[in-house]
Amino acid sequence: MLIFKEELCKGCGLCVSACPKKILQLSKTRLNSKGHAPVEVTDPDACISCAFCATMCPDCVITIE
Ligand code: SF4
Ligand code: SF4
Repeated sequence: MLIFKEELCKGCGLCVSACPKKILQLSKTRLNSKGHAPVEVTDPDACISCAFCATMCPDCVITIE
């Protein structure tokens, strides 16, 4: 399961590029309190828990449980 500390996300997209399953995207409908489009998962069931996204994020937004 992916947990996002959404308020810390700066919408840089590094995690989106890192995901081998291509299931991460920057929100098209929401902004966090800093004004950035936060990352969200499009298909949670497809996640293989590889943690590439969490490793790539410079701001430790993503945790895998
Ligand atoms: S853990 Fe792996 S498969 Fe799951 S969202 Fe992150 S990069 Fe993608
Ligand atoms: S790498 Fe981190 S800060 Fe950048 S979009 Fe992904 S979750 Fe947000």
